[in-house]
Amino acid sequence: MTDIHIRTIGTTGRITLARPKALNALTYEMCLAIEAALDRWRSDPEVACVVIDSQGDRAFCAGGDIAEMYQTGTAGDFSYGRRFWADEYRLNAKIFSYPKPVVSFLQGFTMGGGVGIGCHGSHRIVGQSSQIAMPECGIGLVPDVGGSLMLALAPGRLGEYLGTTGTRMSAADAIYAGFADLYIDMSDWPGLIAELEAGTPLDALTDAATAPPTGAVEAAQDEIDRHFGGERLADILNSLRTGESDFAAKASDAMGRNSPLSMACTIEMLHRLRGPSLSLPKALELEYRFTSRAMEHGDFLEGIRAAIIDKDRQPAWQYPDQKVPAAAVSKMLMPLGKHALTLEEDKMQTRKIGFIGLGNMGAPMAANLAKAGCAVTGFDTAVTAAEGVTMAETAAAAAKGADVVITMLPNGQILRAVAAEVLPAMAEGTLLLDCSTVEVESARAVADLASARGILCVDAPVSGGIGGAAAGTLTFMAGGSEAGFRTAEPLFEIMGQKAVHCGGPGAGQAAKICNNMILGATMIATCEAFALADKLGLDRQKMFDVVSTSSGYSWSMNAYCPAPGIGPQSPADNGYQPGFAAELMLKDLGLSQQAAEAVDADTPMGARAFELYRRFVEEEDGRGKDFSAMLPRFATRRRE
Ligand code: NAD
Repeated sequence: MTDIHIRTIGTTGRITLARPKALNALTYEMCLAIEAALDRWRSDPEVACVVIDSQGDRAFCAGGDIAEMYQTGTAGDFSYGRRFWADEYRLNAKIFSYPKPVVSFLQGFTMGGGVGIGCHGSHRIVGQSSQIAMPECGIGLVPDVGGSLMLALAPGRLGEYLGTTGTRMSAADAIYAGFADLYIDMSDWPGLIAELEAGTPLDALTDAATAPPTGAVEAAQDEIDRHFGGERLADILNSLRTGESDFAAKASDAMGRNSPLSMACTIEMLHRLRGPSLSLPKALELEYRFTSRAMEHGDFLEGIRAAIIDKDRQPAWQYPDQKVPAAAVSKMLMPLGKHALTLEEDKMQTRKIGFIGLGNMGAPMAANLAKAGCAVTGFDTAVTAAEGVTMAETAAAAAKGADVVITMLPNGQILRAVAAEVLPAMAEGTLLLDCSTVEVESARAVADLASARGILCVDAPVSGGIGGAAAGTLTFMAGGSEAGFRTAEPLFEIMGQKAVHCGGPGAGQAAKICNNMILGATMIATCEAFALADKLGLDRQKMFDVVSTSSGYSWSMNAYCPAPGIGPQSPADNGYQPGFAAELMLKDLGLSQQAAEAVDADTPMGARAFELYRRFVEEEDGRGKDFSAMLPRFATRRRE
């Protein structure tokens, strides 16, 4: 890649940012390239330390390349930005905890994304031209890339001051604030880099360091603490407005240019972060809450427009009167739930998966895992295939060496037989994740077998049908230990949109059985209502238009309409090819009745639905058809 030079020289891993005309602004590709190099060098005995520098005099790195974020964000696609930030933050964390020394040479501007690359290593070198800043509030973001950690750790209220004003720190200021370690005359840098490449110990850096020329912020610390100690943005602004010093006027001016929402969130973040449990992952996680919402709900797109697209420097911020309600701050910093930042993503992508049962559901689920970067080996007794999946000769062969084995099989008996075959092939500590719909007893029996071998087991039946399996939008209802659920979570995220941990072994199946009892009954109700409407002379489209927006609506009507040519695409539009076969629905209704009997529950609608599907499958022509083919059945029948 021409924007960055990555190589090893002598005993160093060498990274040189090489976009001097763009002030070495960091692109997504540069981030990924740096991460890949760090991963390679981590266990490379030839590499003793990593040295990061950059070309040109003006900047080490003046930030992240935000032009593409603007283009995708204004087109309504927020996923590119979220992915960039998540991957960039993971890189920042890797630099921070890298097991080998990381030395960075920070000439000229080091701002935003540049801080994330240059200021988390073990030896951060500054010189005469160094100017370091976190100016994100000026473009509608908050100090990120782990910068909030350093701001939270800076003396007194310096963090609030630097974060909300975006003030540029000189070399001395940066050392004082904790963004840099050593001041070394820049004329010495090339020689020192050559020495490191030749294997000279890092003490050479400390030996070459001298005292920097005096900075400005240390002298202003008292005034900073006085004005920036308030609880909220309004307190700080009031204090500055009533202060009569030059310092107060300048700080107030700087804050007048920045996004009020971003500044209010920056202050709240620093207050939340300070304390004994402060860590870089915690800071990055909090930053990501803001940045992942910044395009949709924050001022970020407007900030980029004014700064680098139209360059009018007149951003139309939200809350122009600088009165930011506490609720607006909370909304930006609320936990992200399953979308929370995970620094473990790379591990997940290299997961080895064994996938047994590649039918209507299993094949698209396995294909989605392969697409997401998992190495998937599959097995099915029928000759089937799934995109990106390598097929094995036996279930045990597919399970061998896998971190997770997923089963998607027709029933509990088959599941038990497959589990007996694959568990002995699986290593201790791995996970058996069963997504089939089976009886609670089978789920518990398999969980017992797994636990006897030290293997985690989660029953996680799904809802969402083949459409959800293909689109990766399934809902998983999971039963098993907390550790099992956590291990499965990244895979749920790839294959689905929601996973609920319902309880211990079998709890997922219990939830699924109840859900499908409702589904069977509502599908029958929907089909018989269409048949009645036909006989009453009501147009099917009109019936759909009314019911899908009235109190009779249901998933069966709205998402899986049993009438051909009506509503979204469904098996009815494909001659009632399953989809979800009537015999599978019969199986699920049978499970609900079996369970109801075991616990003495009264389920008359479930019992009636079971009986109707039993007749449809066993005595009529329902076998092999989708479960929505109840509509042509009812349409051709007379009242009994
Ligand atoms: P399917 O019949 O299309 O797929 C099951 C696959 O398992 C088949 O390809 C079959 O050859 C394979 N198989 C059978 N025995 C095997 C063995 N011993 N070893 C390896 N492979 C074996 O069924 P499906 O629709 O994919 O459903 C799978 C599970 O998901 C079922 O438990 C079902 O109840 C549940 N489910 C289905 C849907 C749906 O809409 N289809 C929705 C939710 C849940």
